Amino acid sequence: MDMRSGRGPDGEPRLSLDAMTADFVVDVANVVRERGLVNDRPADLSRLTLLTGALAEFARDDSVRVYGVCDGSLLGDGRLYPAERTLLARWAAEGRLEVRPVADPRILELVETLDMPAVTGDNFFDEIPDHPWIAGNTDSFLRPVPDASGRGVSVVPRVMPVPQEWQISRKREESDLLASGMYDRRGAGARRELLDRIWRCPAAACPLFGPGRTTGQPLPRHRRGRVLCPTHEVQLTSLGTVPARAQLKVRVDGAVRTRFTVAEGAEITVGRAPAPSDGIALAPWIGEAARIWMSRNHVTIALDGGQVRVRDTSANGTVVRRAGDDVRLRRGGEWPLRTGQLVLLHETVALELSGRRYFFEDPEQGPARPLSPSDSGPTLLHRPGEAPRGRRGRR
Ligand SMILES: [Zn+2]
Repeated sequence: MDMRSGRGPDGEPRLSLDAMTADFVVDVANVVRERGLVNDRPADLSRLTLLTGALAEFARDDSVRVYGVCDGSLLGDGRLYPAERTLLARWAAEGRLEVRPVADPRILELVETLDMPAVTGDNFFDEIPDHPWIAGNTDSFLRPVPDASGRGVSVVPRVMPVPQEWQISRKREESDLLASGMYDRRGAGARRELLDRIWRCPAAACPLFGPGRTTGQPLPRHRRGRVLCPTHEVQLTSLGTVPARAQLKVRVDGAVRTRFTVAEGAEITVGRAPAPSDGIALAPWIGEAARIWMSRNHVTIALDGGQVRVRDTSANGTVVRRAGDDVRLRRGGEWPLRTGQLVLLHETVALELSGRRYFFEDPEQGPARPLSPSDSGPTLLHRPGEAPRGRRGRR
């Protein structure tokens, strides 16, 4: 018998009732859903039991205590056996498992305040803006891995990856969609069929989904198969689908100064002072050197079958910066733009795809409005977007 089982006398994992006396905090849902660990089931509670044994081995301490945190979705995860769900519910009722609507902030709080390592495979990209210490961290995170036999569990220290900015944007979008019920963690992810729609609220003069607002709607809420108005808690009716869109950011000297969206089938001109009235004029934001270098109509951006295409229409050319190398576009040259690539109109002025795939107005800010060139605000056509809006209770 293995002396270092990490289990209590009842054979169950030593889940601590008190975070203060625990040695490790475990991201329980992440571990239980680590497919490939022990077996290929999409969720398996034995991974947690085996993990506590592995932590006893790792800490060389058979009395190791782990503090488990999970979000409520794990207790209702239909991929677990009924007996596994019953056990989780009992642990939650006994206070041996802390269940939160969202687990990540609590896990990080325990790491920060108690200096307790966390066991998780999550990269916490969406939390990095609030907790910059996570990126590149080498001493606060462990992850479970298959042991040499492939049927057991070991733990290894982690080097936390440093994300690119678009990866943070995408993770934040997932968090926002999750909070609205618009993201299915167990299924295909974002509920695309609901997110690409225009909605109408039956309540009179609803400011969010009333007749006065058919574009730039905020994110509706999804609960138990119904799409609801967040203000009135009544079911919304669909008025049809919105065309696919892509959002681009404009960076000047590294800072995002404006953003714009392009709809499927449309083409937008971007430059110093474009001739088309719906073009994106960058003159108000750029420095003297860029103003001299950049053409009035420098590039066009089109969305064609879901692919964003950049076409150079400038005198001095455009550079696409991607991992490792630069691609130079001459007049008429086209480029299929991917996330993470920069389109340089001048060495100080770059366009890039937003990591977000869905664009909603912030209900607290009202409908989007075009800005005048003198307005130093960050947007021309759409809401500021990825500022840490709507993340109440945090900085
Ligand atoms: Zn309403």
